[in-house]
Amino acid sequence: MKITFATGNKGKLREAQEILGDDFEIITPADLGMTEDIEETGTSLMANSLIKAKYIYDKYSMDSLADDSGLEVEILNGAPGIYSARYAGEEHNFEANMDKLLSEMARMMKEASRAREYGVNTVHATYRAHFRTVVTLMIDGTPHFFEGQLDGKIGLVKKGTNGFGYDPIFIPDMIPADAAQPLPEGSSFSLEPDADGLVKNIGMITLAQLSEEQKNAISHRGKAMRKMAAYLLGDNPSSEK
Ligand code: IMP
Repeated sequence: MKITFATGNKGKLREAQEILGDDFEIITPADLGMTEDIEETGTSLMANSLIKAKYIYDKYSMDSLADDSGLEVEILNGAPGIYSARYAGEEHNFEANMDKLLSEMARMMKEASRAREYGVNTVHATYRAHFRTVVTLMIDGTPHFFEGQLDGKIGLVKKGTNGFGYDPIFIPDMIPADAAQPLPEGSSFSLEPDADGLVKNIGMITLAQLSEEQKNAISHRGKAMRKMAAYLLGDNPSSEK
């Protein structure tokens, strides 16, 4: 089966092909000779993901898929969300985006402590953040949506060089067991992997310190893509959405 993935990102393409396997041939808009960018004018991840998948379907009458992701920080009331790529400007600069996020968080924390001085109850989960993805799969003109979420917190210091975007400041709650640093010799504490082979991230490792494979195993996009693969492969249709 041939599907066009509305992305120019080689990493995403590789990941989707790996997850879907050889029964699916995934091509890109560039392979079809498309040169224009698709404007993301929606106000939610779902809307933007649908816009991209529908654009390809309408233009080429081909089954298509698209994803849209964003980082939602609790103390920032869900920002930057759909604006994650262009948070600090249209240049989509990862460093500038992270710096803006950290300074906005510092500003909100100051405001929250000031509000507390005046007895205002501010229930902020200071560092909590979530990456979310919505994948849209257009089959015969009908959209199917698959969501994935990765929970964690924002680290105030950038760590690691792998990945992209906000990876150096995102500390996932759970990581693959093989990514965890070994515990000190004689430690009475033990890290038992859960049913998915994940352990608590007590070393506060960021996404940028994981390998591509380790990140894909836990990432928002990986989760949404695997739900889509299960649907397409007929393994588990009920996992949709
Ligand atoms: P996209 O919709 O996947 O292109 O993501 C939009 C923006 O969200 C990216 O430009 C990044 O800033 C951020 N983002 C999405 N996924 C990730 C991730 O896995 N790690 C870090 N940043 C991400």
